[in-house]
Amino acid sequence: VKFVYDFTEGNKDLKDLLGGKGANLAEMTNLGLPVPPGFTITTEACKTYLDSGEEPAALRDEVSAHLDALEKEMGKKLGQADNPLLVSVRSGAKFSMPGMMDTVLNIGLSDKSVQGLAKQSGDDRFAWDSYRRLIQMFGKTVLGVDGDLFEDALEAAKKSKKVTVDTELEAADLKKLVTKFKKIVKSEAGRDFPQDPREQMDLAIKAVFDSWNGDRAKLYRRQERIPHDLGTAVNICSMVFGNLGPDSGTGVAFTRDPASGHQGVYGDYLQNAQGEDVVAGIRNTVPLADLEKIDKKSYDQLMHIMETLENHYKDLCDIEFTIERGQLWMLQTRVGKRTAGAAFRIATQLVDQGLIDEAEALQRVTGAQLAQLMFPRFDEEAEAHQIGRGIAASPGAAVGKAVFDSYTAIKWSRSGEKVILIRRETNPDDLDGMIAAEGILTSRGGKTSHAAVVARGMGKTCVCGAEELEVDTKRRRLTVNGTVVEEGDVVSIDGSSGKVYLGEVPVVPSPVVEYFEGRMHAGADDADELVAAVHRIMAYADRVRRLRVRANADNAEDALRARRFGAQGIGLCRTEHMFLGDRRELVERLILADTETEREDSLKQLLPLQKRDFVELFEAMDGLPVTVRLLDPPLHEFLPDVTELSVRVALAESRKDPNENDLRLLQAVHRLHEQNPMLGLRGVRLGLVIPGLFTMQVRAIAEAAAERKNAKGDPRAEIMIPLVGTVQELEIVRDEAEQVIAEVEQATGVRLKLALGTMIELPRAALTAGQIAEAAEFFSFGTNDLTQTVWGFSRDDVEASFFTAYLEKGIFGVSPFETIDKDGVGSLVKSAADAGRATRPDLKLGVCGEHGGDPESVHFFHEVGLDYVSCSPFRIPVARLEAGRAAS
Ligand code: ADP
Ligand code: MG
Ligand code: MG
Repeated sequence: VKFVYDFTEGNKDLKDLLGGKGANLAEMTNLGLPVPPGFTITTEACKTYLDSGEEPAALRDEVSAHLDALEKEMGKKLGQADNPLLVSVRSGAKFSMPGMMDTVLNIGLSDKSVQGLAKQSGDDRFAWDSYRRLIQMFGKTVLGVDGDLFEDALEAAKKSKKVTVDTELEAADLKKLVTKFKKIVKSEAGRDFPQDPREQMDLAIKAVFDSWNGDRAKLYRRQERIPHDLGTAVNICSMVFGNLGPDSGTGVAFTRDPASGHQGVYGDYLQNAQGEDVVAGIRNTVPLADLEKIDKKSYDQLMHIMETLENHYKDLCDIEFTIERGQLWMLQTRVGKRTAGAAFRIATQLVDQGLIDEAEALQRVTGAQLAQLMFPRFDEEAEAHQIGRGIAASPGAAVGKAVFDSYTAIKWSRSGEKVILIRRETNPDDLDGMIAAEGILTSRGGKTSHAAVVARGMGKTCVCGAEELEVDTKRRRLTVNGTVVEEGDVVSIDGSSGKVYLGEVPVVPSPVVEYFEGRMHAGADDADELVAAVHRIMAYADRVRRLRVRANADNAEDALRARRFGAQGIGLCRTEHMFLGDRRELVERLILADTETEREDSLKQLLPLQKRDFVELFEAMDGLPVTVRLLDPPLHEFLPDVTELSVRVALAESRKDPNENDLRLLQAVHRLHEQNPMLGLRGVRLGLVIPGLFTMQVRAIAEAAAERKNAKGDPRAEIMIPLVGTVQELEIVRDEAEQVIAEVEQATGVRLKLALGTMIELPRAALTAGQIAEAAEFFSFGTNDLTQTVWGFSRDDVEASFFTAYLEKGIFGVSPFETIDKDGVGSLVKSAADAGRATRPDLKLGVCGEHGGDPESVHFFHEVGLDYVSCSPFRIPVARLEAGRAAS
């Protein structure tokens, strides 16, 4: 095997082997762009090193051979005393990864060669500046010295000279600093700063290899689900110098605006600077456009190169460049990150430019980006007083009064106040407070902290880890840079940017939602441009997708909204909501019924109410399928809370005025109590033990359908039996249902074509799907319960209790309730789908549950051949888009 590739030997498709940076440096080299010569050590070399603890035997010789060639090409030798070649050693994995060692510049400088560099460049100051940078970077990243020690020494040097920026330090000052830095290395690392240039290089290469397994890098990979065995490449690149005076400098740029997608000149430039200076903010940069005045020739060349890169990569690129005494050098490029809005705009702009086709445009956007665009956001025009910034943990724009404990959050929100719950960090005790709050703000914890995980699960805005905020829960206030926010003061938090504001920032609705709602059309201004792009991408997606998208909706209002958002039916109508509110009393009577007549009587009264619900629903979804699930939850959910009831009964007793009904209710609550209600009397089991319940519901559906038909409508009801574990359960309920339907047909004289099917949400149902399909015309995978029962996780409890630990330990990167667990739950879905279809080839297959609107899960459902996904109305556009992406 070959472990080292010259920049002229690679290309952009070799990211696995050369890492992103190396592959793109090679690509630019081959495009004839000015890239300083160099070579890349492959990820394979790294892997061998990490596996065996030793560098592959051939590596040293290969590096020597490439270094020789580089030295010949440059006409100087690495670290040579009179005319040194200097190089940078740069890490570069397939995915860029925070927590890995980044880069050491100026490798090859030593006490001797610094003199040579001074002579070669005719610039003493520059030479000593480069040397002190080397010791600083090398000391920190290779030898593990605390970087602050160098920074402090640099600060001290500036202070004693009474200057503010590093460029004002002169050669003599820098020379002194070098001595100081070397002392720091000696005392902190227990060794001298290496004077041998090749030793410097080899140590740096090894440090890059080792950094692959740094704690932060490992954690990042677990969270982002990047495999641990990819390894990193190492790039050795000959140095060019942006710190050679005012006709030198360094900059970063985008080929178009990463915020709007507009073409133009976007970037920053810093004269007389090296490497990270631009982004580190040590001096004020100038806008890239100013480079035209500073160095017109380089500017024109850069513009030309940016155009070349865009046309070549057919996408927005970001670049790093350096100008050395009027000569432009390209140091890095990659397809650049962009905002969600820009992703949509750029994709359509590139289609218009003829650079990509529609199928490719679909791959350039994601459902997550679309979801982000659908949150309301703060008005950018409005004045806002930012007081801090944390991690954007769960998107949205939330405004409310600051509260510092859950109790107050609940109390205030009950009296109609909007509140933001502010905590140092949250724990399971804060759950009710989090539910009551508009948004959650914490000063500690990252993207997998309790606050972040739970907030995302609830779809609630959250900013976490805003470290500069000092949260004092005892005194109910927070302090940040001298500003004090007391309980009750209004704050605004932006879960998409992580920004925290004092006072109310006005919120504007998402233009994308306005568009889906039909309240806005594509036009010319900025927001309309976004809407036009979304409109076009959605049209591509709808054209190519195979999966249909339905909504989970329980009433006509939600159904109509879902239709506007593009739903092609209802995949899950939960009927339990029709048993609440003022119907509760009837349901209580049903549960308490001692005699058959009592029970029949309450069912009779429920029937017309249910029927009316269905008529409205079928009308809203006229012409589209509506899957109605018969009653699913355990009955105790319809009874009053046991504590409340007990207190009421006890009070009445002490007054010697017992309430007969309350007493019976309390008895019923006790009778119905179950240790594990989610595994208890619910779903099809209710239909089997409570005579008349399911048949009443079926009758309501059938009569509603008949009424709609008589009104010249086109109702397409599908009746779904929940929590079936064996085909026998289904057969009994189905026989009863068919009988009721026949009765209704007879009575109304209307021919009804009602489909009967089941949910697959128990492992046993999935395992016997072949048998169950004998009695079912359709399956709908209830992946919430299926995940719960396959993993043995109680969905209502685990997210707040141990999931944070699971996520932190990397057991999974994301909750299996959020994204389908392909290996476990997913494989059951697949085998059940196959078995069902083997029995009944025209079996209709769908999925309802949160996974139906989750991008990754949608791709999975496409792959296993389901017919549709069903999700909450708001997620429908996301599911449509991802279904299109999966199919294209
Ligand atoms: P990162 O992955 O953090 O971007 P880089 O390897 O790109 O790290 O290097 C960090 C900085 O050093 C960048 O600004 C880059 O342009 C600069 N740099 C890297 N190699 C050289 C070089 N050979 N000559 C001049 N500057 C360089
Ligand atoms: Mg870089
Ligand atoms: Mg269920």
